[in-house]
Amino acid sequence: MFQELHDLLGPQGCLTGADVPEAARSDGSRSGQMLPLALLRPATVEQVSAALAICHRHGQKVVVQGGMTGLAGGANALGGEVALSLSRLSGVEEIDAVQGVMVLRAGTVLEVAQRAAEAAGFLLPIDLGARGSCQIGGNIATNAGGLRVIRHGTTRENVLGLEVVQADGTVLSHLNRGVKDNTGYDLRHLFAGSEGTLGVITRAVLRLRPLPAAPETALCALEDFGAVVRLLQMAQRSVTVAAFEAMWREYFALSQSLTGKVLFADVPPFAVILEAEGGGLQPLLEAAFEEGVIFDALVAQSTAEARDFWAVREGHALDASLRGLINLDVSLPVARMADYADDVTAAVLAQFPGAHVSFFGHVGDSNLHVAIAVPDPDPQKEQAVDRIAYDAVRARGGSISAEHGIGTLKRDWLGHSRSPAELAAMRAIKAALDPKGILNPGKVI
Ligand SMILES: Cc1cc2nc3c(=O)[nH]c(=O)nc-3n(C[C@H](O)[C@H](O)[C@H](O)COP(=O)(O)OP(=O)(O)OC[C@H]3O[C@@H](n4cnc5c(N)ncnc54)[C@H](O)[C@@H]3O)c2cc1C
Repeated sequence: MFQELHDLLGPQGCLTGADVPEAARSDGSRSGQMLPLALLRPATVEQVSAALAICHRHGQKVVVQGGMTGLAGGANALGGEVALSLSRLSGVEEIDAVQGVMVLRAGTVLEVAQRAAEAAGFLLPIDLGARGSCQIGGNIATNAGGLRVIRHGTTRENVLGLEVVQADGTVLSHLNRGVKDNTGYDLRHLFAGSEGTLGVITRAVLRLRPLPAAPETALCALEDFGAVVRLLQMAQRSVTVAAFEAMWREYFALSQSLTGKVLFADVPPFAVILEAEGGGLQPLLEAAFEEGVIFDALVAQSTAEARDFWAVREGHALDASLRGLINLDVSLPVARMADYADDVTAAVLAQFPGAHVSFFGHVGDSNLHVAIAVPDPDPQKEQAVDRIAYDAVRARGGSISAEHGIGTLKRDWLGHSRSPAELAAMRAIKAALDPKGILNPGKVI
């Protein structure tokens, strides 16, 4: 089989043994243990198809790898897989300015696609902190969320057409460019968020928007979570909200001190980054002051100042400084977020005194990120933390994965958010599209 793959893809396209780079071992969750048996790097859709046909014939398991920034372990080999990387299948093929769409290959890095859209006067409305490494195929396969969901929806909502290679090498191509397309089952939405378990995404048609003027950005200080909700409601009524990101005191304090960017010397109970497109931020802030919703605010006077706000929110410094940091990504009704945070904090501290527990996230999308670091971390403690956080999600009717996906890290918790009947339907779909079970086995379900 390896000889067949080597003959098909050539020495650059089929790496084995010591030539397989360490980077193929783990995604951004840093949970991967195994190197894949080989790293396949097809450069064309035809090569993806032929490589999968070979693997299918031999019953060879395949793990699909994009930019390896995923946070759920979905792109990691578990043992005995070959990895199929989309990195060489990259590039923007076309920007159709009349239709307002972009056609591109799955291995295109998100930031490259964003720049190409901007150069043509458009906004590609998908954006996340990993933009410099993650790929469009990975974004679609995880249905990535990120910073612009409140304005433009998740990745899925910006995909108009898809080309996917099935487990046996069959190419399903529906590179539709229209917003309306009710021609039977919408396979596009099935593959979006399927995390490499149903097919390999090779090309996509993405929706573009007119490039907006730079948004106005404010960092607001608030007394309690009720005020955060009121500010969100006021903003949604009076401006075009481009971002609404909340940080609880513990998160803001630590991230601010680690980044060395002192934005509020007196750390407020809650801080919110509010971005508005098309003006109207100043009157909104004045009204929020008058109504006692916010008690302080900084308005960015330059892109650099806005970037400082975002540096504190993105919190990369926490990843580097907190050993064994557990990053959870849950979805909850907004009205239940405050008591969720209080209950999870109390439960974690009761079990692990001295732990760091903090909250931040895309509150406007009902999405909360939880950052927890316990003293002397180990897998059992991580499991205990997951249980506390996910039991509390289930009790509030939330989702254990708002945007990062399930992969391996959340697979055993999927039943907290999905019923046995739903899981059975998912297994039936998997069996229908990949009857030999060669694509990303052990992931999601
Ligand atoms: C600093 C940082 C910030 C982040 N911020 C966000 C955020 O705000 N919102 C968010 O949603 N995520 C975020 N993430 C997570 C991650 O960036 C996203 O999940 C991203 O969409 C993964 O893309 P990738 O190309 O790196 O995919 P990978 O990690 O390579 O793969 C992810 C999954 O998709 C599958 N896959 C990859 N490519 C394909 C393909 N072409 N066809 C089929 N399956 C494929 C893989 O098998 C795997 O299951 C962040 C990660 C980091 C490191």
